[in-house]
Amino acid sequence: MIIVGNGLLITLGGQNRVIPGGAVVIDGKLIAEVGDTPVLREKYPQARFIDAEGKVIMPGMTNTHMHLYSTFARGMALKDEPPGDFAQILERLWWRLDKVLGMEDVYYSALVPLIDCVKNGTTTIVDHHASPNAITGSLSTIARAAGEIGVRSCLCYEVSDRDGMDKAQEGIDENVRFIEACRNEGDDMLTGCMGLHASLTLSDATLQAAAAAAEKLGAGCHIHTAEGIQDVEDSMRKSGVRVVERLQRFGILGPRSIAAHCVHVNDREIAILKETGTNVVHNPESNMGNAVGCAPVMRMLGQGVRVGMGTDGFTTDMFEGIKVANVLHKFHQADPSAAWAEVPQMIFGNNPAILSGFFPGKLGVLEPGAYADLLIVDYDPPTPLDEMNYYGHVLFGFSGGQVETTIINGKVLMLNRVLQTVDEKAVRARARELARKLWERF
Ligand SMILES: [Zn+2]
Repeated sequence: MIIVGNGLLITLGGQNRVIPGGAVVIDGKLIAEVGDTPVLREKYPQARFIDAEGKVIMPGMTNTHMHLYSTFARGMALKDEPPGDFAQILERLWWRLDKVLGMEDVYYSALVPLIDCVKNGTTTIVDHHASPNAITGSLSTIARAAGEIGVRSCLCYEVSDRDGMDKAQEGIDENVRFIEACRNEGDDMLTGCMGLHASLTLSDATLQAAAAAAEKLGAGCHIHTAEGIQDVEDSMRKSGVRVVERLQRFGILGPRSIAAHCVHVNDREIAILKETGTNVVHNPESNMGNAVGCAPVMRMLGQGVRVGMGTDGFTTDMFEGIKVANVLHKFHQADPSAAWAEVPQMIFGNNPAILSGFFPGKLGVLEPGAYADLLIVDYDPPTPLDEMNYYGHVLFGFSGGQVETTIINGKVLMLNRVLQTVDEKAVRARARELARKLWERF
């Protein structure tokens, strides 16, 4: 047993409580109790005690749309002219990068951001992977990295026709194989779903095959949806309907599915997302960086669509994502009062709700029975902090670099900024070697 105590404890969850001098009792992979430190220490005298020294104790952060494989793009020079639009970003960067990933690249490009997740306090991720010349076994390779670092992960391979129909089928097979393997393992730390790139690189036949395979397994799909306007134009050309409607026709949507982005969706599509119970994931930094537009997040939430938050590979630090989401919607709506309630709803309410469809246990809350996924954040509030205003403190006062201790599934992965289970320097050194070679092939 472990007690993490003597902290300013923020439970989050439906009944958010703030407990000064609070403690969390961890028994195995779950939280056994939450309460006052002296009381719990007396009750569990044998437990290992981790002293938060008055700093914040809170649930781990979650990221519901990530691309671990994007790691080696950092600092890489492009071969062509700088991209002028989103389609060119895909063609000149990502669809070139993914083709030159070998299996060791897949492994190391996963290890590095998984380490960063631990350091920035992100305890669960939903990843979306592409490596068309190393498809079969790629999800098991990422799973091995996730297991070694200790981050709770939902993985998928992005099925696409862009490298030919054989690769599309191989992608479907990889998802099926991995989903079945996860089910056989029954591991709380690892799960899978059917990954699909985006409507614009998927033919009717492939959509049909992927949807059928997912349905047979009772698995959800994870697909980029109306991210750029090109996806809408392509869908209209191919099918005469917009993206969400096209995906609905093939049975891709539903309460176990994730539609990432949904930037270019109209009211009719928002109604379909709501009716089908589809999860949407907003990626504010990515949308701004790729200049694809601002997703109608306020409208979707207003219509009752479950919208969560991811980073699309831009960062592993969800505190950074919160800051960007906060200013993006204020700026876009020219309304300084916008997005105050919606951003915490997405990150602290809807992300755990989305993840409850992928993992059997409870996430994103400090309460008995929930997964023991928690952080100590080096934050000493300069003003009063309570249940009502905690979000203002998180938004303006927290960043990933302040996370001192990270515990996932009851395992202490980082203690006082020191990683406990991995040789970080060795991983980064090998990653740099591999990246140098990959850049030559790019
Ligand atoms: Zn993405």
